[in-house]
Amino acid sequence: MLNFEKEINFIKSHYGNQDFTPLHEPCFSGNEKKYVLETIDSTFVSSVGKFVDLFEEKIKEYTGAKYAIAVVNGTSALHMSLLLAGVEQNNLVITQSLSFIATCNAISYLGAEPAFIDVDSKNLGLSAEALKEFLTEVELKEGIPFHIPTGKKIGACVPMHTFGFPVEIDKIVQLCDEFNIPVVEDAAESLGSIYKGKHTGTFGLLGTYSFNGNKTITCGGGGIIVTDDDKLGVLAKHITTQAKIPHRWEYKHDYIGYNYRCPNLNAALACAQIEQLEVFIANKRETAITYKNYFQENENIKFILEPNESRSNYWLNAILLKDNDARDQFLTESNDHGVMTRPAWGLLSKNKMFENCYKKSLIVSEMIESRLVNIPSSVTK
Ligand SMILES: *Cc1c(COP(=O)(O)O)cnc(C)c1O
Repeated sequence: MLNFEKEINFIKSHYGNQDFTPLHEPCFSGNEKKYVLETIDSTFVSSVGKFVDLFEEKIKEYTGAKYAIAVVNGTSALHMSLLLAGVEQNNLVITQSLSFIATCNAISYLGAEPAFIDVDSKNLGLSAEALKEFLTEVELKEGIPFHIPTGKKIGACVPMHTFGFPVEIDKIVQLCDEFNIPVVEDAAESLGSIYKGKHTGTFGLLGTYSFNGNKTITCGGGGIIVTDDDKLGVLAKHITTQAKIPHRWEYKHDYIGYNYRCPNLNAALACAQIEQLEVFIANKRETAITYKNYFQENENIKFILEPNESRSNYWLNAILLKDNDARDQFLTESNDHGVMTRPAWGLLSKNKMFENCYKKSLIVSEMIESRLVNIPSSVTK
């Protein structure tokens, strides 16, 4: 008898007792094929085409952002957003250690370094409390924020809405505003998650989404940058398109640009997926309620619920086991029996590239790292 046989069977049955229950399977039951074929027939498969424009329009409409710029993936969206926020070589960028590696890689692409602070146990994302504490080490010199212990300039703050649960982004933005620190929201996992009636990703100076294969909706590979800032919105499009000065035939450039524009082929897929986004989220939220009701009876497993005043997309459902041994047992038994589960990411501050970076107490992050398991969360029920 397995320790978690009942739980594993329950998850299996929720997804129709398949031989293998994936963690997060995409669903292409809408206009995906039609739109992708349309791009092929039109010959406009690359970075110019009607679906790129439509993708951006749809995201603006859905999130309420003034500008949306489609790029090749979520990592490049973060890279560009940090650049646009003014992050420079040797800056510190405040972020959480409990995140996917892309958050820190993007910071490193600019020669900046992460400074790690703890996450909030209520939402698993950057803690407003921990930020407030960290900011006691920051002083403004002629309006520029400097971190006293390291002497480094603070370039930005990057909160991440972990597994789709919104952080207390209003508080975080307010605290950062007091110190002239731009906020770049890593909303890669939280498309469709709303905090106090406003879309995650639209509170900071810039926000980013990912459309990788395992995200709530996917276009194979893709990302979006959102902002309400007129100057940055226009500049974002420019620098992700090799910074070419628009002209009918001349090739002249006024900036070191990037070839980060989303191909029309991928944007076509994205447009078809956005049409189904609210249905997917409704399904995911139903799955979350099913899990919640089931795990409620179990005193050894805690199902993580969306925080107050928010609607989570429940991108990846998460449970907390009693301790690290129980977590390993759950991971082994579920994966051995065809139910795909995974632990939280290893803390970013433990990777060798980042182990010497500045960090504060990461007690909550460490607790989550050792006890959390993500359980199947596909968009269909
Ligand atoms: C998925 C993800 C990204 C990066 O997205 P890609 O599209 O895979 O480059 C960035 N940050 C977080 C937290 C993510 O989960």
